[in-house]
Amino acid sequence: AGELVKAVHRIMRVADGGRRMSVRANADTEPDAARARQFGAQGIGLCRTEHMFLGDRRSLVEALILADTDSERERQLAELLPLQREDFKGLFEAMDGLPVTIRLLDPPLHEFLPDITELSVRVAVAEARGEPREGDLRMLQAVHKLHEQNPMLGLRGVRLGLVIPGLFAMQSRAILEAAAERVQAGGVPRVEIMVPLVGAVQEFESVKDDIVKVARDVRAETGAHLEYLVGTMIELPRAALTADQIAESAEFFSFGTNDLTQTTWGFSRDDVEAAFFSHYLEKGIFGVSPFESIDREGVGELVRIAAEKGRERRPGLKLGVCGEHGGDPESVHFFDEVGLDYVSCSPFRVPVARLEAGRANAQAGAGNGRDSR
Ligand code: PEP
Ligand code: MG
Repeated sequence: AGELVKAVHRIMRVADGGRRMSVRANADTEPDAARARQFGAQGIGLCRTEHMFLGDRRSLVEALILADTDSERERQLAELLPLQREDFKGLFEAMDGLPVTIRLLDPPLHEFLPDITELSVRVAVAEARGEPREGDLRMLQAVHKLHEQNPMLGLRGVRLGLVIPGLFAMQSRAILEAAAERVQAGGVPRVEIMVPLVGAVQEFESVKDDIVKVARDVRAETGAHLEYLVGTMIELPRAALTADQIAESAEFFSFGTNDLTQTTWGFSRDDVEAAFFSHYLEKGIFGVSPFESIDREGVGELVRIAAEKGRERRPGLKLGVCGEHGGDPESVHFFDEVGLDYVSCSPFRVPVARLEAGRANAQAGAGNGRDSR
């Protein structure tokens, strides 16, 4: 077994030597980040902050979403701030010196709201018994107002940040305060704040303005010399097609190929077991599910267009991918071809992505004399 491990390390070193793209991991917790680093990840390409609010903390986000006065909302945000600061401190520590991309909250709302059917039944039963409960009724009215038929196409991502005042500012403050502490402890946090589900540059700019203000405050309060980038996910066709405008103010793009596949094909990413899907595979309409391997002609073409438009407007724009495709060998070759700087995938896929990124660059070099850069 020892010989085998040595051989694997030797192969990985060869692959790493010929690799142009770097490989990061998608990780939301300190242990995941540490494991990813052991697998050779060169940073975090995606920290999904909504995962930090599952379990016990779920109710805090629910209370925030349902807060009906400014003071109630501010109270919830103040409670969340120190929790988030601790979360981010752990990530910066585990990935010291390497880039950490933290995505602002992007949950489909229904994951955090009480179930509307259950709530309706509870209210109806209480009323029938002649014991109406004020609290449940108010909650039902609030949930009803936010209820959507298609939550994945609804109040998610940047929309949530624009609708709930102070939410993204709180998260950005937590990120930057954690980074400032790291700097003061002699560490090197490389902060990248990422805005999800952007479709129009105006959405991005509005959030970025708030982040810049928060950063100015945190710098003044802590005296820490803080560096950070603000960038966006490209996961809607409209964002890909207007990438030149978005690149005016976004300092990096990360392609969210899960949502981009969903919105380009119009297939629900949560129903890939749907009956028609296997029918499509059998008929050869596609060889492999487009959620598994990049569809070069559609989703991939949007990636290529966005990369070109973005770099035309902002030469040197940093480009990566953090959808599932970032760990798929075929797709890794495609991302190398269109000139992305990095792929990000789950920690366990990092070695495969390193290997494929090395092979992709070697093949490209053999084909057209391209140097690795
Ligand atoms: C994506 O859409 O590809 C992505 C990385 O974000 P999420 O899967 O969290 O929607
Ligand atoms: Mg997404």
